[in-house]
Amino acid sequence: MLPDLKLAVRLQDLDNRAADLTKEISALPKHIAEIEKKLESHQRRLEADKAALAGNLRDRKKFEADIQTQEQKISKLKGQMVEAKNNDQYRAFQHEIDFCQKEIGSSEDRILELMGESERLEGNVKIAEAALKEERKQVDSEKAAAKDRTSADQQALSLLESERKSIVSQVSPIVLKSYDRIFKSRGGVAIAEALDGRCSKCHIGLRPQFYQELKRDVKVMYCESCNRMLYYNPPQSFENEVGPGHVSHPA
Ligand SMILES: [Zn+2]
Repeated sequence: MLPDLKLAVRLQDLDNRAADLTKEISALPKHIAEIEKKLESHQRRLEADKAALAGNLRDRKKFEADIQTQEQKISKLKGQMVEAKNNDQYRAFQHEIDFCQKEIGSSEDRILELMGESERLEGNVKIAEAALKEERKQVDSEKAAAKDRTSADQQALSLLESERKSIVSQVSPIVLKSYDRIFKSRGGVAIAEALDGRCSKCHIGLRPQFYQELKRDVKVMYCESCNRMLYYNPPQSFENEVGPGHVSHPA
């Protein structure tokens, strides 16, 4: 294969890998932000349940205090009752006592309701606390992994960049210029293999004469449809021609 084409193939391979790494590096913080946001929303839900539980306990204490107040009232009324001067007074005290007892009854009902509710809330809090602990562990380990992965990616990227520089210094300027131009205008793919008489990127069938000329490998040729650089690999010498880094062709 023409040295320029070989270098362009190598360049494309490096650029593909660099693009993958860059994509991964930029995707990782997004992923971390997403799992942290989820964690925060679970944390907030737990806090809301805890606040509801605290409110529930407060309400129960209030109703318990109410009951105590009513009981004190009743015992005071009972004391006054024995000193009632007549039936009317007696009935009036009895009426007040009945009222206090009704108040006690409704406070007791509310306490029972609140106890049922608090059982549910306590269950929620317990489950949420355990789940949150697990989730926090998971988030921490994913963050650590993302950090490691990012620095490994950045290291790999800088290796690719230095390798790219050395290749760029070897390609003829005109081919490099074409490569860069096509790379930008053709979605990051500047070079395509000609396979079975077709451009493997745009899949147009190459004219037989064009294909023969390409196989002769005397000049850099461009696909007449997508304008990408074309290269041809004789099947038997694939490994030697492209090198181990090339992955677009099944081995
Ligand atoms: Zn093409």
